[in-house]
Amino acid sequence: MKIKDILDSREKTFSFEFFPPKNYSSILELGINIGQLMKLSPSYISVTYGAGGSTQETSFSMIDYINNKIGLVTMAHYTCVNATKEKVLRDIDFFHEKNIENLILLRGDPPKGETKFNNGGGDFQHASDLIDFVAKQGDFCIAAAGYPEAHPESETFDKDIEYLKYKVAKGVDFVVTQLFFDNSYYFDFVERARNAGINIPIVPGIMPITNFKQIKKFTQMCGAKIPDLLVQKLEAHHDDFKKTYDIGVDFAIDQCRELLDKGAPGLHFYTLNKSRATVDIFASIK
Ligand code: FAD
Repeated sequence: MKIKDILDSREKTFSFEFFPPKNYSSILELGINIGQLMKLSPSYISVTYGAGGSTQETSFSMIDYINNKIGLVTMAHYTCVNATKEKVLRDIDFFHEKNIENLILLRGDPPKGETKFNNGGGDFQHASDLIDFVAKQGDFCIAAAGYPEAHPESETFDKDIEYLKYKVAKGVDFVVTQLFFDNSYYFDFVERARNAGINIPIVPGIMPITNFKQIKKFTQMCGAKIPDLLVQKLEAHHDDFKKTYDIGVDFAIDQCRELLDKGAPGLHFYTLNKSRATVDIFASIK
């Protein structure tokens, strides 16, 4: 099933993102957490694709398993890193063979410790190039990334929207946003996108805070700001796991409620392969 059809039906989508596990204990942990999250009947599950294509094999096995053995709607992440045209065509054959109908096509991040993106000798420099190529190869539902606080490499908000518009014109059906904590960035981003003539659904990406140290690292990488008041609360309890969890989940519940109430077409949860926070948020907002 194509995610655009779920979005077209105006049903709010609830989706969960996982990354490929690296060792046996994380495989076990992931299995347990996917099991918990399946009970929430997600609209779809997405599986990330590691930097440098390093996790490609596991990403592809996971997406195949979730799509064809568990039977949930899936969306495969795929990037420009190492993506020659020949490789993309081979991978498209895999997606067709496994009935993977939904792809989120991305550029990929600069290598660890570097600031400049390197496509590893691939044929695509920007997500828009990859989208253009893939959209011509088959009837996929294609998503792309959007940045409520602008992409960290962007010169200006306007330039970022201009490139988003270009990317969308190449064949994007919906946008999933980078994580953010201040909803005003999302609402402004949607307004700027609409004013620029981008009319496809823009699904907000949500990352519940359960570990302050970890979230500080993520936000430094992706440029998302944590509101001062929330930082103060979290800092006051930085060594108390339970309190941090409660603060993070309560914040996410309010954030999700406001997003849905004010028209977001759904919520995409960056689960970090855990389920408890998402399950608790769901219990409150559903
Ligand atoms: P692009 O759209 O190419 O944009 C990158 C930068 O270039 C932006 O600053 C943009 O304004 C600018 N730009 C765009 N087009 C042009 C152009 N034609 N000329 C000049 N400048 C241009 N990374 C992974 O490695 N694996 C994943 O699985 C993954 N999943 C993600 C899922 C989501 C929902 C999000 C939000 C991000 C994900 N990422 C993933 C991270 C992503 O790869 C990075 O954010 C990356 O830095 C940018 O990717 P993009 O697709 O937005 O790139």
